[in-house]
Amino acid sequence: MFKIEVYKNYIDGKWVSSNSKKTFSSLNPTNENAIGRFQLSNKRDIDLAVKSAEDSYWEWSSMPAPERAEILFEVVRLLKKDKQRLGKLETIEMGKVLKEGLGDVQEAIDIFEYMAGEGRRLFGHTTPSELKNKVAYTVRMPVGVFGLITPWNFPIAIPAWKLAPALICGNTVVFKPSSDTPLCAIELMKILEKSGLPKGVVNLITGSAKDTGEAIVKHPRIRGISFTGSKFTGEWIVKNAGLKKVGLELGGKNAIIVMDDADIEMALDGIIWGGFGTTGQRCTAASRVIAHEDIKNELNDKLISMTEKLKLGDGLKESTDIGPLVNKKAVEKTDYYVGVGKKEKAKLMCGGEQLKGKGFFYKPTIFTDVNEKMRIAKEEIFGPVVSVLSVKDIDEAIKVCNNIEYGLSSAIYTNDINKAFKAIEKIEAGLTYVNSSTIGSEVHLPFGGVKHTGHGRETGIEGLHEFSETKTVYIDYSGKLQKAQGID
Ligand code: NAD
Repeated sequence: MFKIEVYKNYIDGKWVSSNSKKTFSSLNPTNENAIGRFQLSNKRDIDLAVKSAEDSYWEWSSMPAPERAEILFEVVRLLKKDKQRLGKLETIEMGKVLKEGLGDVQEAIDIFEYMAGEGRRLFGHTTPSELKNKVAYTVRMPVGVFGLITPWNFPIAIPAWKLAPALICGNTVVFKPSSDTPLCAIELMKILEKSGLPKGVVNLITGSAKDTGEAIVKHPRIRGISFTGSKFTGEWIVKNAGLKKVGLELGGKNAIIVMDDADIEMALDGIIWGGFGTTGQRCTAASRVIAHEDIKNELNDKLISMTEKLKLGDGLKESTDIGPLVNKKAVEKTDYYVGVGKKEKAKLMCGGEQLKGKGFFYKPTIFTDVNEKMRIAKEEIFGPVVSVLSVKDIDEAIKVCNNIEYGLSSAIYTNDINKAFKAIEKIEAGLTYVNSSTIGSEVHLPFGGVKHTGHGRETGIEGLHEFSETKTVYIDYSGKLQKAQGID
């Protein structure tokens, strides 16, 4: 389907080669074939991209937001037109099954549409002044040049979650996608280019974490960083970004609690979807199941039998339930954690091995008899591995759920409203689902986590605040100097 083309960076409205004169490949994880070559950019390229974003800032930020919104609506139209092709490209470049690839593109459509609507709102607030003849209100201001650094697991939706609010607020952008999914980013950039976005407003640079990502984080003329990725990289960014405005969406170790009064069949569907959707490579993946001891055996038996029936394969085939992992390193990491689980004396009930032959396939894996002290119950694996723990009541379930460093998503299956509300109140996470899985957020609500999952929120109104600053305005029409706090 793809000839091995050499793709370029997009700087100041032009497709250009890197100063490094070097390129790298992106592989199809299903068959390990290269799908294109991409610029291995360096700091000089980042400098040029930042200059271009700076040069276009005045004009873009001066354009009325409803006019900027028209461009975002055009992006929506173009994404809708190209949805099938882009969804397929996701499957080819990072392996997720086609229906999930299409879902990812839909999420990008939704966020561009939502944020375009914000072009006619961008609300501040008004409030009375404590003095006569004085007006007080707030407005939203852009931040300046934003650096957007994204992972590969939602290769179109996550960039869109950042681009749409950044642009509607009037920022200009230097965007660096993951080196596992540069082609998805380039195709998204082409759509932005076609939409009529003025040159320089978005600049796309591909390349390594070291030579491009780090240069963006440390760049003195970039004012904001919006990052989605691992906790490890997030910590590095916090130490190196200086006083930039930083938003961080990091890892998770999300749990589904299943109480003894739950609808077990419904919970099982949620566990399979949460644990193995996107081959377990979602930040919101349900990698832990916390089951009430009275239903644990029934749940385990049914879960293992359902997991063994899942079909691994090419995500473009309709019969496939689970695609490959993104790359060889991800297979090695998953296998390493399976080894850890065995050493920790958790019971490996199914899976636990790589599929032989081409492609980065790993069998969906279930561990039972896991306890909260084990590493497989605490650390993010980011592969198709689900650990089942058991508890005696709702209080213990919540304590076990919270006994991790992350706090992204969570779910409880119960038919007891008291237990549901207790979980909503006490679980330390940015998202709690009741009688639904840990995955499946909607773009008009905020998304993000607590504890080491990072800070800030994406999507929804909170998502706009990540990409704008509040300015407070006072207008005194008394004709004399009035002092606040009653100073005469
Ligand atoms: P990663 O941190 O390795 O890389 C993410 C991006 O950061 C890539 O573009 C990479 O090149 C860049 N990068 C890496 N080191 C950098 C550095 N020192 N300076 C600047 N940029 C750097 O993460 P990944 O493997 O691509 O993604 C998987 C992780 O992302 C998982 O931990 C997952 O939970 C997390 N994630 C979180 C969310 C969320 O919203 N909370 C969503 C998706 C993925």
